[in-house]
Amino acid sequence: IEEVRKVDPEIANLIEAETQRQNSHIELIASENWVSKAVMAAMGSTLTNKYAEGYPGKRYYGGCGCVDEVETLAIERAKALFHCEYVNVQPHSGAQANMAVFYAMLKPGDTILGMNLAHGGHLTHGSPANMSGAYFKAVSYGVNDEGYIDYNKVLEIAKECRPRLIVAGASAYARTIDFKKFREIADEVGAYLMVDMAHIAGLVAGGQHPSPIPYADVVTTTTHKTLRGPRGGMILSSAENAKKFNFNKAIFPGIQGGPLMHVIAAKAVCLKEALEPEFKVYAENVVKNAQALSQGLLKRGVKLVSGGTDNHLMLVDLVDKGVTGKEMENLLDEVNITCNKNAIPNDPQSPFVTSGVRLGTAAVTSRGMNESDMDQIAEAIALVLDGRENAERAREIVKSLTDRYPLVG
Ligand code: PLP
Repeated sequence: IEEVRKVDPEIANLIEAETQRQNSHIELIASENWVSKAVMAAMGSTLTNKYAEGYPGKRYYGGCGCVDEVETLAIERAKALFHCEYVNVQPHSGAQANMAVFYAMLKPGDTILGMNLAHGGHLTHGSPANMSGAYFKAVSYGVNDEGYIDYNKVLEIAKECRPRLIVAGASAYARTIDFKKFREIADEVGAYLMVDMAHIAGLVAGGQHPSPIPYADVVTTTTHKTLRGPRGGMILSSAENAKKFNFNKAIFPGIQGGPLMHVIAAKAVCLKEALEPEFKVYAENVVKNAQALSQGLLKRGVKLVSGGTDNHLMLVDLVDKGVTGKEMENLLDEVNITCNKNAIPNDPQSPFVTSGVRLGTAAVTSRGMNESDMDQIAEAIALVLDGRENAERAREIVKSLTDRYPLVG
């Protein structure tokens, strides 16, 4: 940071302020995490200087010996971690990984079937606002009144719309996804199955969620959520499908130019960390903490979509509380708890207002917090929900936790 300060004090101050914000707030955004110093250092390395269009051993630039080894290590580690035969570590983000898969497997106008954004799906799974909804005929499935995916209903919709590709995976779904069922549905209607495991990748790596690898034709992910790596994406598949659909070509030159080699180095470091036995413990603790947070909320009268969670996140249903998701996000921010407003199934409010907030435990677990701390966080959230006059007490709880688990920038 001192190097930044010498050149650009404005940006240095903002980086410092953001580090301080992360230190003084409890981070409950389900898609965020706190990376290791090693991951951070790899991202800030000389590898950012290097152009390396192409793939290891087949580049369009000279001087790629070192970065070839870096990318090969990242690929081999990802293959070992997720037990698969092919990985592309070049996608700049989860959205890029998804776009490349569509580009490789579909033609414009094909039908895709993905989870409704308002029910927990992601923009890139067929939202009209996204390329996936504009270039393809997007049909969606959702959750039932209990907040669970109804696989019979998914089959029914699939039989009706005959999709070329089904997308399983979500951004705000708190329950285990049955990939085997999705495979059966895809087989019954002759569709490809793509699983976007962005949110749960760390849980899959740590054995806390069944792996989609044995069932999906292709799997995409981000690396920065529960997997605790740099911002980025990956594509994983069998060797056969990698060849058949040529995912490499879809990424480069299909939709991207030069890979971010510094980020790929950081992915390699994160994957090495995820292969260590400690990462299993981390993933276990993420789930235990989500259980503790959800129990803490439920016992204080806070409603959750589907009544709880199986993974790292939960969706708070605020309909009965007389407060919108947008208001709750702001109220929690005032007591230094960061989360995001989130639509709940059949939400009466608009997507910009919503009637829910999404909470996740990946970042607080990286910070070292445990189940009794989660109960304290639940207490702070319940206090805020009970009325603004409790804000001071909630802020004290947050401060005692953030002081106890300091992060260093
Ligand atoms: N897929 C899912 C399921 C996600 O939740 C997200 C991010 O929120 C993405 C893809 C997109 O990832 P990115 O923001 O890296 O493009």
